[in-house]
Amino acid sequence: MSVLDRVYVLSPPAIQNAMVSGYGLILYWRRLASRKHRRAMERIAALEASTPKEVERVQRRLLKQTLVHAGHTVPHYRSLFSDRGVDPEEIDTIERLRDLPILEKHEVRENPERFLSENPRGHHTINTSGTTGSPLRVRCTRDALVQNYSHFYRLRQRLGVGPHERCATFAGRVIVEPARTEPPFWRHNLVTNTILYSTYHLSPDTLPAYLERLDRQQPVLIDSYPSALGVVASALRERSDLTIRPRAILTSSETLLPHQRAAAEEAFECNVTDQYGSAEMSAFIAQCERGAYHVWASFGIVEVLVDGRPARPRETGEIVTTGFINEAMPLIRYRTGDMAVMGEGCGCGLPFMVLDRIEGRMDDILVTPDGRRVGRLDPVFKGLPDDAFREVQIAQVSPDRVVVRYVPGTRYDPSSVTSVKRELAKRLGPEVRVEEERMTSLPRGASGKIRAVVGLRAAGSDPPGAE
Ligand SMILES: [Zn+2]
Repeated sequence: MSVLDRVYVLSPPAIQNAMVSGYGLILYWRRLASRKHRRAMERIAALEASTPKEVERVQRRLLKQTLVHAGHTVPHYRSLFSDRGVDPEEIDTIERLRDLPILEKHEVRENPERFLSENPRGHHTINTSGTTGSPLRVRCTRDALVQNYSHFYRLRQRLGVGPHERCATFAGRVIVEPARTEPPFWRHNLVTNTILYSTYHLSPDTLPAYLERLDRQQPVLIDSYPSALGVVASALRERSDLTIRPRAILTSSETLLPHQRAAAEEAFECNVTDQYGSAEMSAFIAQCERGAYHVWASFGIVEVLVDGRPARPRETGEIVTTGFINEAMPLIRYRTGDMAVMGEGCGCGLPFMVLDRIEGRMDDILVTPDGRRVGRLDPVFKGLPDDAFREVQIAQVSPDRVVVRYVPGTRYDPSSVTSVKRELAKRLGPEVRVEEERMTSLPRGASGKIRAVVGLRAAGSDPPGAE
């Protein structure tokens, strides 16, 4: 925990609100108050209104720009292109892009500096763990952050939500001290007019307070992890005295399951728009009003591959991405570990590639003895070195016991696992024991993937509080 985090945890809610707002002001200033952001939003909107032919032209130009930049300034790509005699100037179609090899997450994790551009305009660091559960540190430029949030705010705009309208978010940051048992389980960011609701305090006992706060807030937009949205929506269906009618609901970060969507659309009488983005900043995929998933061509190229060949319509394949927006760490043909079902087309008018469904990220959830569901655990790996763990998995073995199973990586030291355990304990609360187990390799699932999180349900027993 940083000094600031420690001060935050010890402060009363009013001070926490001020700190959340102050932090929000900094983020807001960075993301929104710039001319760049406005221009980016306009460019995205213009591309949405253009023809497939024009989209292809723009995509070819951005692809070439990305490859030339990578070939000139990124050590990994410089040697890859020279070993293979590839001239990046000549690759300007997806067909030609397929001549390049697929990039695996572990290649980046093992040698992150080989993927960093030697002349980026300012580096920032963000973290991600992705579906294999091994943290990967991705660096990005400030401009990439602007592009990323511009796509997100353009999506909000398409849904009829302005930048200052009331928003409710349910996400992975710890914003309320874990031991708190009485409301408020939320903090207010006055700058963006957003109430941040803690997902870690959602339980049958606390849900009425959440619902009543949402009812008082009447958010125009609900922006949530699917797991939290599903729980809140199911509880709201039982409360005929409350009417919460947002204009839009956005989900991201986990796979949106059909029962979660159904519960939310019924309880809030509002469509759910699901969005897929990766912390690697390589793709932006979102649903249109007809429910199809479109790949925003301004952000990058998405391939869906089955045994290395492009998937046919309705076939399930792996998502491989080539991002355009991050000059600091361009990732070309990057295997995300997520799966999607290829689409055929959509009549909505958006000129972008179509997917039927995103099937990846079926990360499981943990359930505490008091019935709280804890999902999206990526943030517990925050701040660790790239290769602290070669493999790592969080497994719930009984209602009150969670084990961190790990294979040490090249930069492992005992504080790595201590830090993960501490972050988990913060989210799971005092009733759950968090233990560690050092292994030589982790069990693989049927797909050959290591599951990042294994909940009790996955192990075959029904946890208390499960539906
Ligand atoms: Zn569409």
